[in-house]
Amino acid sequence: FNVPEPVNEPVKSYAPGSPERKELQEMLKSLRNLQVDVPMFIGSEEVRTGNKKPMSPPHDHQHILGHFHEGDESHVNQAINAALGAKEAWESMEWEQRAAIFLKAADLLAGPYRAKINAATMLGQSKNAMQAEIDAACEFIDFLRFNVKYMTEIYGQQPPVSGNGVWNRVEQRPLEGFVFALTPFNFTAIAGNLPASAAMMGNTVVWKPAYTQIYSANVLMEVFKEAGVPDGVINLIYVDGPTAGDIIFNHPDFAGIHFTGSTGVFQHIWKTIGENIYKYKSYPRIVGETGGKDFVVAHKSANPKAVAVGLSRGAFEFQGQKCSAASRAYIPSNIWGDVKKYLLEDLASMKMGPTEDFTNFINAVIDEKAFDKISKYIDNAKTAEGVEVIAGGNHDKSKGYFIEPTVLVVEDPMYTTMQEEIFGPVLTIYVYNSEHFEEALELVDQTSPYALTGAVFSTDRYAIELATQKLRNAAGNFYINDKPTGAVVGQQPFGGARASGTNDKAGSMINLLRWVSPRTIKETF
Ligand code: GLU
Repeated sequence: FNVPEPVNEPVKSYAPGSPERKELQEMLKSLRNLQVDVPMFIGSEEVRTGNKKPMSPPHDHQHILGHFHEGDESHVNQAINAALGAKEAWESMEWEQRAAIFLKAADLLAGPYRAKINAATMLGQSKNAMQAEIDAACEFIDFLRFNVKYMTEIYGQQPPVSGNGVWNRVEQRPLEGFVFALTPFNFTAIAGNLPASAAMMGNTVVWKPAYTQIYSANVLMEVFKEAGVPDGVINLIYVDGPTAGDIIFNHPDFAGIHFTGSTGVFQHIWKTIGENIYKYKSYPRIVGETGGKDFVVAHKSANPKAVAVGLSRGAFEFQGQKCSAASRAYIPSNIWGDVKKYLLEDLASMKMGPTEDFTNFINAVIDEKAFDKISKYIDNAKTAEGVEVIAGGNHDKSKGYFIEPTVLVVEDPMYTTMQEEIFGPVLTIYVYNSEHFEEALELVDQTSPYALTGAVFSTDRYAIELATQKLRNAAGNFYINDKPTGAVVGQQPFGGARASGTNDKAGSMINLLRWVSPRTIKETF
């Protein structure tokens, strides 16, 4: 197959004085006051219901960026019908044609749309320029290009054995029905990839983004349209979750869900699908990446500076709003003094404020609900016994939803914030007796129901080996001497097990295979 070999999209630096920085700053300025009017996209229609909801930057919640049109039951039904209506033409298209559309989308994002998708992510989701660049530009471009490579591998698989008057074939059919993509606010790349990967494999999709990501979802849709995704293949609706779910999970043609979001929502969806199982034509594919309580465990041989940097970056990039964020750490007593010193130094260098000022590393959390939930964990910790707040602890929502990067040190390794997912800038540290590494590993494995990411820091190969063995099931992405965030498409396929999801690795052949249903054909001559 004549498909270009993908390479990871190079990350631009946005250094002061660089042309990309200037372009992005101009784009931010113009988008800020554009007052966009965002319709739903159903079939060939741009649907404006008149039920308009405002969109604001989380770091400046009184400023209105524009409005989106909220829909209701009727729009969910229309979107399903549009998806089913577009299905025959789309699935009978040669896969190379589908691939070409998504390769073009990648090129549009790499070039003409790069500033726009980054600016939209910075304004709508309060991501700083670098975090936007590695997400909305590079990761999504990589998802598209690498998935096309995986398509070639799937469609180009060796046929089964034939002979003796028999010809055997395996055909990769799209699923029968429509796919539902339910997408999160925290990665623009994931929001785009969940509908796109199912669509690439010949499926048509109903896409419901988080309300807090609609601002950049609208730009993604613009890219899909310009790249040539036909009407009805990806239908974008803004309808509240329970209303959409009620219709979708009761529909006989519901063929699968591609989900990233909270564990609670995913478990509820799984249960609903189970209850409705007799209604469907096929067993729906359930693919989900959910929560995490991601760990860093250091061995007494670890380099304290490397541990500190792993913690500060792993815990506080994008305000800790990554399923992969380091949120509980196990640090041996012998290096704790140095780790603490370097960690506090690094935190002191992190400025907090709006994304439009590129010197701010920390920005706002996504909305008031998140702000209140995270602040409560912090306030409880301030008065809890055996808990020391060694950094941060302040929060203020008067202008934007700002929470300082907060570090707690706990005496009890089972304290709430060691166990529960907070999804915010809160890191909890337990200092263990350096001679008890094996017990620390035991704690790491037993403390949380999640198993998404985790990291071990050590310069001792026996300790690395021990951690790798003992924590075999504690993380789907395991890092040695690095932070547990920032998986790169094509390099570290991403996903977790236990309560963290179905581990169908985003940006991998495993994931794309979930969106096809093979048919075996035996022909006898
Ligand atoms: N893939 C991202 C990472 O490695 C995390 C994705 C998520 O938060 O859902 O950091």
